[in-house]
Amino acid sequence: MALFELTELQQQIRSEAERFCREQLGPFASPMDDDEHWPDEIFPMLGAQGYLGATVPEQYGGQGLGLLEAGLICEVMNKWNPAIGLSWAAHDNLCVNNIYRNANEDQRRRYLPGLCDGSLVGALGLTEPGAGSDALGSMATTAVRDGDEYILNGSKIFITNGPIADIVLVYAKTDLSASAHGISAFIVETDTPGFAVAQKMIKQGYRGSQTGELVFDDCRVAVENRLGEENAGVAIVMSGLDLERAFLALGCVGTTERALELALEHSENRRQFDQPIGEFQAIAHKLADMWVSLETSRTFCYRVLDMCQRAADGAPDPLIARYAAAAILYAAEANTAATNEAVQIHGGSGFMWEMEINRLYRSAKLLEIGAGTSEVRRNIIAASLRSDGL
Ligand SMILES: Cc1cc2nc3c(=O)[nH]c(=O)nc-3n(C[C@H](O)[C@H](O)[C@H](O)COP(=O)(O)OP(=O)(O)OC[C@H]3O[C@@H](n4cnc5c(N)ncnc54)[C@H](O)[C@@H]3O)c2cc1C
Repeated sequence: MALFELTELQQQIRSEAERFCREQLGPFASPMDDDEHWPDEIFPMLGAQGYLGATVPEQYGGQGLGLLEAGLICEVMNKWNPAIGLSWAAHDNLCVNNIYRNANEDQRRRYLPGLCDGSLVGALGLTEPGAGSDALGSMATTAVRDGDEYILNGSKIFITNGPIADIVLVYAKTDLSASAHGISAFIVETDTPGFAVAQKMIKQGYRGSQTGELVFDDCRVAVENRLGEENAGVAIVMSGLDLERAFLALGCVGTTERALELALEHSENRRQFDQPIGEFQAIAHKLADMWVSLETSRTFCYRVLDMCQRAADGAPDPLIARYAAAAILYAAEANTAATNEAVQIHGGSGFMWEMEINRLYRSAKLLEIGAGTSEVRRNIIAASLRSDGL
């Protein structure tokens, strides 16, 4: 098991992606946050620059990268523009990677090229108003078979990219008597009659990323758009959630790194009592602690994504769910703590809305909630420890 150095190629992918994200995506961060605005040119731009379909083979229009390489892109995108980083992750990991892994050849050919060139935007709809942490057990959205179609009814909430999506990967109950084993996955085109965006939601952070409530009202979806077998959706959900957690953990790492850079810069430039504030031990120790948690998160999260890649390559690891939950648990809490300390180091200026550190601080909290909360992650780790031991 690698413990953990990036290869030369991985370092090159990360540094090229960082240059692109800093120069091309960074300038959008402030206006997107101010106006809760998503610029339509972003997905086509990401497609043209080779940042969509990161893990999808080239024959379908993707980049053919491994999960760790894609995670490195996630890291630097969330460093320079977290709102784009989140929307990109929802598209590329939650939706596109999931479709690639579970679709049949016809579905791959119909949807992946558009999702990889940015002409189609993807989203994933699992959470419902009454089904959050208990997404599978409490799911109320139904899909009833009617000839060659399923009729979907219900709603999904807090869906990243929901208001701008062309394709939503939706989970719905196809057998009401079978709990989690009565769930199926569907590719829903958002121009299908019966589909609507009920509301765009206003957020404290990641404000440029569009989040919405989606409604299905007798929405007819062709049987050929079912992903996998009927009632076999639970495996798609669970494997997708593991990957989502391991992947988004690196988004936390990117934001933590930027918070530390900003804190370090401010602690050199800001003078009080005739000296840079970084010379006060209280401030210097905060910087030291932030760096330690950053490097701890980074090393662990790289290792976990590498484990996920090995599993994808045919060496399944029964502890993947535990490690993926642990990676995002640790990285998200480290990120919240680091952005909080970085605001503290900025003093009053850190409390100002337009400051970059304030934007990162407002956003960080989400990663302790989305993709399963910190409490749910601890539940997964504890259950795995009890059943599998160390
Ligand atoms: C900005 C944003 C974007 C999102 N994007 C998506 C998306 O693209 N697709 C999607 O499907 N979902 C998305 N979500 C939904 C997200 O995954 C859920 O918010 C999350 O799973 C928590 O569900 P909930 O909000 O209903 O909280 P609840 O489940 O109501 O939890 C409330 C509290 O109770 C605690 N709790 C619940 N059960 C337990 C338990 N068994 N043990 C201990 N504590 C427990 C929770 O940890 C939490 O602290 C997004 C959410 C947000 C805020």
